[in-house]
Amino acid sequence: MALVGRPNVGKSTLLNALLGQKISIATRKPQTTRHRILGIHQRDDAQIVYVDTPGLHEGGKTAMNRYMNDAAGSALSDVDVVVFLIEAGRWTEADEQVLRRLQAIDTPVIAVINKADRLRDKNQLLPEIELMSKRFGFAAVVPVSALKSDNLQALEGSLIEQL
Ligand code: GDP
Ligand code: MG
Repeated sequence: MALVGRPNVGKSTLLNALLGQKISIATRKPQTTRHRILGIHQRDDAQIVYVDTPGLHEGGKTAMNRYMNDAAGSALSDVDVVVFLIEAGRWTEADEQVLRRLQAIDTPVIAVINKADRLRDKNQLLPEIELMSKRFGFAAVVPVSALKSDNLQALEGSLIEQL
């Protein structure tokens, strides 16, 4: 699965929380030109390979940027699931840009609303989940706290469902 989202949404924190001690590979070096492998989680029922898609998160309007973004967008077609990470209560133009990349692919996308621990009232999540569900044909919308490792079981469950 590919993990996408604007800087600072908590991708690295989520990955560390999901992998815990289960890391087989963790490297900053690209493994292929299309993806870099961030880690592998070996479960009894499945092997989840987490990848990053170089070029996807860089914005910009130059021809080079567009080219890189297009290549990154098509790379998302060869994973089984895309996890689109966003931040509870904070939707920005950068999120909008990433979502636009996802519009072009057929791969199922799970929206993960991170930093849920920051909300004083958890009921605030409900309208956000509803809004996200309406915005795009997400396979699932899952609130989590990567920092507190909250609701990661539900996220893993949603991931496995897409395989
Ligand atoms: P990345 O740029 O998407 O990889 O984001 P990072 O994982 O580096 O996280 C960016 C910042 O958000 C860091 O200061 C994290 O500690 C913080 N952060 C990540 N996840 C959570 C969360 O679930 N709750 C809170 N409160 N902070 C978080
Ligand atoms: Mg990071």
